[in-house]
Amino acid sequence: MEKVSYDVVIVGAGLAGLMAAHEIASAGYNVAVISKVFPTRSHSAAAEGGIAAYIQGNSDPNDNPDYMAYDTIKGGDYLVDQDAAELLAYKSGEIVMLLERWGTLFNRQPDGRVAVRYFGGQTYPRTRFVGDKTGMALLHTVYERTSGLGSVDFYFEWFAWELVRDENRVRGIIAFDMRNMVPVFFKAKAVVIASGGMGMLYRHSTNSYINTGDGYAMALRARVALKDPEFVQFHPTALYPSDILISEAARGEGAVLRNVKGERFMARYAPKKLDLAPRDIVSRAILTEVKEGRGFPGGYVGLDLTHLGEDYIKERLALAYEAAKSFAGLDATKEMIPVRPAQHYYMGGIDVDITGRNPDLIGLFAAGEAACVSVHGANRLGSNSLLETLVFGRETGRAVVEFLKSYTEPSSDIDKEAEKMIDSAYDVVKSESGIHFGEILEKLRDTMWDYVGVFRDENGLKTALSEIMKLREDMKKMYVLDKSKVYNTEFYNALELKNMLDLALVIATSALNRKESRGAHYRLDFPERDDQNWLKHTIAYLRGNSVEITYKPVKMTKWKPEARVY
Ligand SMILES: Cc1cc2nc3c(=O)[nH]c(=O)nc-3n(C[C@H](O)[C@H](O)[C@H](O)COP(=O)(O)OP(=O)(O)OC[C@H]3O[C@@H](n4cnc5c(N)ncnc54)[C@H](O)[C@@H]3O)c2cc1C
Repeated sequence: MEKVSYDVVIVGAGLAGLMAAHEIASAGYNVAVISKVFPTRSHSAAAEGGIAAYIQGNSDPNDNPDYMAYDTIKGGDYLVDQDAAELLAYKSGEIVMLLERWGTLFNRQPDGRVAVRYFGGQTYPRTRFVGDKTGMALLHTVYERTSGLGSVDFYFEWFAWELVRDENRVRGIIAFDMRNMVPVFFKAKAVVIASGGMGMLYRHSTNSYINTGDGYAMALRARVALKDPEFVQFHPTALYPSDILISEAARGEGAVLRNVKGERFMARYAPKKLDLAPRDIVSRAILTEVKEGRGFPGGYVGLDLTHLGEDYIKERLALAYEAAKSFAGLDATKEMIPVRPAQHYYMGGIDVDITGRNPDLIGLFAAGEAACVSVHGANRLGSNSLLETLVFGRETGRAVVEFLKSYTEPSSDIDKEAEKMIDSAYDVVKSESGIHFGEILEKLRDTMWDYVGVFRDENGLKTALSEIMKLREDMKKMYVLDKSKVYNTEFYNALELKNMLDLALVIATSALNRKESRGAHYRLDFPERDDQNWLKHTIAYLRGNSVEITYKPVKMTKWKPEARVY
């Protein structure tokens, strides 16, 4: 197998990966950034509504970073590590202003200051934005900055498949060149996983097709734990029926949710915050309305923007307007947009501390949605993720630089081990018959949606687990129709499915294990939060076909858990 050597290999060219690359390369180290797609097509580009930041002299005079940390902690139903939330809040203003200096053109208020809008769960408005194309603007800015540094090599349309490790250290990764299926061993002193989320596990998701959870599965197979894997976020307002996201910015700008009777039903579920309650609460409210017969036929509710006025909608919510027009054939300035919940974000992730370092494997780091710091706890607040990618992408980059300063070369040779790891990957192209990967994928997505979704209970989760085990058996007979080596996308889809099945097992097992309701994890059979027994992080390892669960305490600094009412 061909080999290349770098100081650092980063899997993922979204905001988190690029920000880490920028930091490491600026310190003089050479970096390989690997991505399934061209960097600016990473899912970060799809982020619409904005990035949260407390900016001194620019925020509400009553606001401060502690309120921002508190909102994040309460929003996350107290499963947030409070030191992480403080770091996020205190660095937020500085990093947004840095991005502004680098070239992101944020919307402005008439007096020239950076404009701001409310997002769910915020006591004061903090979300900064570029219309409703914020992620796109940020990603182009960071890509431009990073690609200008000579010591970053981009490998796009490359598929990272396995982490290579020895007894206790990471030694690199194996990736395929997607053009010709040739595997290459990327040897590295440190590896950063910044591979984003996993929405494709679910029948309904706002995510890109590339979000298949590869990084989580690579880590699991390398005996690295995921933290809080049971926590999956469902966004309340995905366009019906295509699941394209209608950003929370719409409600931030004043849109309201209505049921079939025209009632503003959020008054029943969150009397104070109404439509701007956190996402888990709004998602459950919508599905409850539908279940109790107050939804529209087909199972959705209406998002009403009509009172905002045509000019305002077209300026501030252009993407929502266009999506409604192109994909639901309606004019959002005159009619309500049909919406329902869909998977949106993954709070769980590779277990790391606030420097992005993983405790299981020396030299392994993770950042962005792939990581669990944990800054979002049981439920992420809207516009905190873009912020996390930048703040913790940079922190991780800095920690990698520190790690490299005292790095010593390992004595053992690892090439033969690496060689052995790719053999089984080709099985799907060798088999001429069996079960087509698409069949397994469809069943998995339905299973996760039906039984590991917004509402969960013991029976459903057990059904999910037995179905996932069956699909894992079926996977052994999986084959693909395309046998060519040239851009064989079916081959990569099959590898992605293997990753999804590893992750699904860990999510469903951890969800069954947590016998309480907290944030996005809602158990119909245990509807209350139980701080006595469950104010702790799940730490889950994949061991063959079973999952081993241990726990870690939640880091508390200033805030004691209280009832979460909005
Ligand atoms: C529709 C939508 C709207 C959103 N809006 C907002 C918002 O307004 N505000 C906010 O804060 N958050 C928002 N989010 C969430 C936020 O955008 C993401 O959580 C964040 O951008 C993730 O960034 P990342 O760098 O971690 O990963 P991504 O940007 O997802 O990048 C992942 C990278 O990993 C690469 N990769 C993955 N697997 C492999 C592999 N096997 N081999 C090689 N490369 C691989 C991909 O090619 C990609 O480059 C939104 C999310 C969605 C889906």
